[in-house]
Amino acid sequence: MEYLPVFLRLRDRPVLVVGGGRVAARKIELLRRAGARITLIAPELDAELAARVAADPELTHIPAAFEPAHADGAGLIVAATDSREANEAVSRAAHERGIPVNVVDDPGLSSFIFPAIVDRSPLIVAIGSGGEAPVLARRVREKIEALLPERLGALARFMGERRKAVQRALSAPFRRPFWERIVDGVVGSRIISGDESAAEEAFAEELARAARTVRADGTEPLGEVYLIGAGPGDPDLLTLRALQLLQQADVVLYDRLVSDAVLERARRDAERIFVGKETGGPHHLTQARIHELLVAYARRGLRVARLKGGDPFVFGRGGEEIEVLAAHGIPFTVVPGITAALGAAASTAIPLTHRTLSHSVTFTTGHAYDRDEQDWRALAASRQTVVFYMGIAQLPQIVSCLLQAGAPASRPAAIIERATLGEQKLLRGTLGTLVGLARAARVEPPALLVVGEVAAFEPGRLQMPIADAPRAARIA
Ligand code: SAH
Repeated sequence: MEYLPVFLRLRDRPVLVVGGGRVAARKIELLRRAGARITLIAPELDAELAARVAADPELTHIPAAFEPAHADGAGLIVAATDSREANEAVSRAAHERGIPVNVVDDPGLSSFIFPAIVDRSPLIVAIGSGGEAPVLARRVREKIEALLPERLGALARFMGERRKAVQRALSAPFRRPFWERIVDGVVGSRIISGDESAAEEAFAEELARAARTVRADGTEPLGEVYLIGAGPGDPDLLTLRALQLLQQADVVLYDRLVSDAVLERARRDAERIFVGKETGGPHHLTQARIHELLVAYARRGLRVARLKGGDPFVFGRGGEEIEVLAAHGIPFTVVPGITAALGAAASTAIPLTHRTLSHSVTFTTGHAYDRDEQDWRALAASRQTVVFYMGIAQLPQIVSCLLQAGAPASRPAAIIERATLGEQKLLRGTLGTLVGLARAARVEPPALLVVGEVAAFEPGRLQMPIADAPRAARIA
């Protein structure tokens, strides 16, 4: 190990920064976040830094070239000038006085280097490559950045504020498992999703329960259900929160529409339970049975991920599931997902609304074709986009309902099969041609039907009024 990572307390400590440009400004920003009192040495400052100095009483500027005496009394020194000579002089003065010094981008002149950081204060992750591969360190930082919820700092603070109370309530051997339950369970996920008052309540319950458990009454900890939208299939379209909760869940209940690639993102040792094959097929569980499973697993104190294709609240029966959970007093968190229509639109470059082609978009179901539930006249109107979910089996009926309700046979329509997955298929036509095209192409579910002018949209073909078109397009 070439460098020892440490966390330095700089609050109200004197720090010397040498240099008047952007690099110095970046370091000053960081040092001020850590509460350092800064003396800045530079004959001149750029405008941004000058404004900063004027606004910040803890930042004193000495308009002079660096002299070794400036280093006296500093707790830490940073050199960020664009002159090698000046940087060397700072480094020498610091070394002579035994003061830690960093010369930006010059590990040879430095006695310490700044790590790449992920800041969820008070929780901080520092990453370094000993100056060998800063780009690699930054990549690692990006990965960790994506992995750690934004409100992890709030959780750390929440825990810090309650350490004393837990010390009083629980004897030493019980504290660690207790805190693990706080981090991984309901309390943690409540804070992460921004609901501190619910977290507060759950914490009080957990602590009371733990205190009772110490007296060995055998009560189990509270489980929780995460209702997670898995998106249309491509695992890169999962939200960060979906990933984080998938990493925590003990059990994953997943639907037919959840792709293997998404499922692979769940915790390695999580139990995976398939709860739907073809509707009515041999492995299909009824919705009631799924409700029972959710309740049963959560009652055992487990963290249950209920993973659904697309978004749980778009034709996903998510509403019914949370009603059941609420009725049983089981805490739940809903994580939105990218619904199939949004995934399909993006992956085919078909915009769902467009300033000249479509002013609104409707998501509806193809299942309701033979009932009076649909207002076909409204769906047949022009200058809008209608996306039918679960409509492929009833495609001929849907098209004929739209035509009867007054939509012209020339209205563009498209089918997108297995959107965002490797085998995605896009079929474009019109209400007049699409049924034949779909039959010839043997379209299969899952697929969406998109009806409206946008279904014929192809970027590159000019479809805007000429006055609004970008210059390059006009010339072409
Ligand atoms: N909750 C889901 C929808 C479930 S209903 C969501 O928000 O996307 C199931 C229907 O969704 C399928 O019949 C199909 O119409 C559509 N669907 C889901 N995933 C799809 C995909 N990858 N490509 C095309 N359609 C998809």
